[in-house]
Amino acid sequence: MRTKIVAGNWKMNKTLAESKALVEAISDKVNGDKLEDTRVIVAPTYVNLTGVLDSTEDSVVEVAAQNMHQEESGAYTGEISGAMLEDIGVELVILGHSERRAYFGETDELLAKKVDLSYKYNLEVIFCFGEELEDRKSGNHFKVVESQLKNALFHLEAEDWRNIILAYEPVWAIGTGETASPEQAQEMHAFIRKIIADKYTQNLADGISILYGGSVKPANAVEIFSKPDVDGGLIGGAALNVDDFVAIVNAI
Ligand code: PGA
Repeated sequence: MRTKIVAGNWKMNKTLAESKALVEAISDKVNGDKLEDTRVIVAPTYVNLTGVLDSTEDSVVEVAAQNMHQEESGAYTGEISGAMLEDIGVELVILGHSERRAYFGETDELLAKKVDLSYKYNLEVIFCFGEELEDRKSGNHFKVVESQLKNALFHLEAEDWRNIILAYEPVWAIGTGETASPEQAQEMHAFIRKIIADKYTQNLADGISILYGGSVKPANAVEIFSKPDVDGGLIGGAALNVDDFVAIVNAI
């Protein structure tokens, strides 16, 4: 039985007061008893991590950073290290989000370095990847996804995968209102599981949670989450509203 996960990526939204109010409202509405094998995660911006961690001390809601730097420390003005995240009590980090890849030039090779560092700082990784619209139109989407995973993660030893949550996010579906159909998501998730099984073992592949991300909303969440290889979602826009986010958690 795989762990189900609903994670909210707040991106560059919400002040500290708004972040605390949102996470507290989510905590109040998410019924811990009903969650069973489901994890609920929120990812506020760096400056609000401590405040949100304080607000979730007695809550089932977990807190992730949206990124971290690939070097351990040094002259990298404006950057945040894994050590800093661990020190304030963060236990999860999102890596490889398509906005980091597109606007900040993050490559698979750089992401492999970040993934390697995550172990040192006891950070569980939500690793994002996914094809662009041209890749899908030209039928290259499987190839693109396979190379993203190979280049960033397939150097890992089997036991290192205990630390990895995957988030398939087709770039054309992020923030666009256009969602991959449940069938498209299932097809890709099954493909991802197969290439992991081919490289490692079926057992390992069967244990990895693979989230879908890209315009998940209360209206489409049930159908997407009902697919056998979809283990939850990474939610952007709809994670900023308590009722929408909780409805998506309940859809699991
Ligand atoms: P969206 O974002 O739900 O607003 O499409 C998803 C994401 O970027 O993780």
